[in-house]
Amino acid sequence: MAQIEPKPGIMEIALYEGGKATVEGVSNVVKLSSNENPYGPSPAAQEAVRRTVHELHRYPSTDHAALRQAIAEMHGLDAARIICGVGSDEVIHFLCQAYAGPGTEVIHTEHGFAMYRISTLAAGGTPVEVPERERVTDVDPILNACNENTRLVFIANPNNPTGTMIGLAEIERLAEGLPPQCLLVLDGAYAEYVEGYDGGARLVEMRDNVVMTRTFSKLYGLGGLRVGWGYAPKHVIDVLNRVRGPFNLSSTALAAAEAAVRDTAYVEKCRDDNTRLRAWLSEALAEHGVPCDTSTANFVLARFGSREEAEACDAYLQTQGLIVRRVAGYNLPNCLRITVGDEASCRRVAYCVGQFKAGAR
Ligand SMILES: *Cc1c(COP(=O)(O)O)cnc(C)c1O
Repeated sequence: MAQIEPKPGIMEIALYEGGKATVEGVSNVVKLSSNENPYGPSPAAQEAVRRTVHELHRYPSTDHAALRQAIAEMHGLDAARIICGVGSDEVIHFLCQAYAGPGTEVIHTEHGFAMYRISTLAAGGTPVEVPERERVTDVDPILNACNENTRLVFIANPNNPTGTMIGLAEIERLAEGLPPQCLLVLDGAYAEYVEGYDGGARLVEMRDNVVMTRTFSKLYGLGGLRVGWGYAPKHVIDVLNRVRGPFNLSSTALAAAEAAVRDTAYVEKCRDDNTRLRAWLSEALAEHGVPCDTSTANFVLARFGSREEAEACDAYLQTQGLIVRRVAGYNLPNCLRITVGDEASCRRVAYCVGQFKAGAR
């Protein structure tokens, strides 16, 4: 057995740790650790799931034409430049499989999403971490880290777990300054939460080195079904489809996502509630002496005085049935990431943080 070993890089992958969902001995927990939509999926998406159960003996579509068409219509995009994946995680994976490998480098920022590093290592590439400026993506260190081996640059905008974002002019400057063999990937998992922001779609259409990824896991409330998509120049779509499995998305997932993207009223309601409650939550936490950066997503990053204080607050919140996310693994040991839940959850978490700051343990 000692001679059976995986290829280089695989054992450097630290297992992804998802947000906790339970606390031993505590019932009725409120899960604010995974940036899920507190209202669940749209009723139309739920109905679409029910309709598929009679057809589950059939293989699903291989080209995802109906879902791509629906996404294209609702977002004003070109369906031929869309690729669908098992979550946007799979699109990230396709990008690394296709463009990274031994001897190549992939850039992500110091508080960037864990999957960029994991997928790079799985492909045999070398992840390169660059600094942000006060928890905000900083274009110059990224450009300075580029060399002739750099193949991909990943940026989430808005970023997770910081919640901050940079403007399209900065993103364009980054795309313009990259070496010719390098693709810029704009991860738009939270783009729907930003009114009037297209996630970088127009930039994708104007350039041949920019890719956007999107997901149904956050605003659309379909994290359990695993549907994401990418928008890319035609030459990139042609490449990614070669590494994509022919039946990567189930018929149930395809039908639910199509119904969800067409339910614009539900999308607007969820976005508006999030905007209102996020502002309320940030302000309430600040009043308790816990500041947050201005978030553009469906969570806030609460900053404590030290790692010890953040961990003690997390432990206290758990005793109160509230699960939030520790982000020490994202180089933010003194912070907790808190998903914007429904109104009752926001009130409860703000109240409990206040109790903690007042000395409750
Ligand atoms: C949640 C998240 C994703 C989405 O992952 P899915 O695989 O689509 O569920 C992608 N990027 C970031 C930054 C995220 O926070």
